[in-house]
Amino acid sequence: MGFHVCEYCKPGDTGQYSNLSSGDVTLRFDSGNTWEMPDMILHYIADHGFRPPLEFIEDVMNQTVIGSERAQTKGLPRKVGYLSGGYVEGEIPAGFLEKLETLMVAANRSGDRIQYRGK
Ligand SMILES: [Zn+2]
Repeated sequence: MGFHVCEYCKPGDTGQYSNLSSGDVTLRFDSGNTWEMPDMILHYIADHGFRPPLEFIEDVMNQTVIGSERAQTKGLPRKVGYLSGGYVEGEIPAGFLEKLETLMVAANRSGDRIQYRGK
């Protein structure tokens, strides 16, 4: 199975969340926004201080995710958390990580997650 390892961790680093991604998750919100992210976005936020775009934070805090069958989205998914090179650091609202994790688990269950192809 294919996977990506966090490029910001030093060997032996462990964090609150796994620093491996083996797939991409898509979240569709009532706002019309669709966001695509790697599994390890939680690791980037919790363990490296990455601050996602404010619009994404707002969508997650509002918890108005909808299923793909109901989605009326504004075009192509926007990508969030595919870090490489520099990234924005900043404050994350209390409860954000827990909400995002819950949404990602639900998306995985409803099939809104794509496993990376192995080599
Ligand atoms: Zn890392």
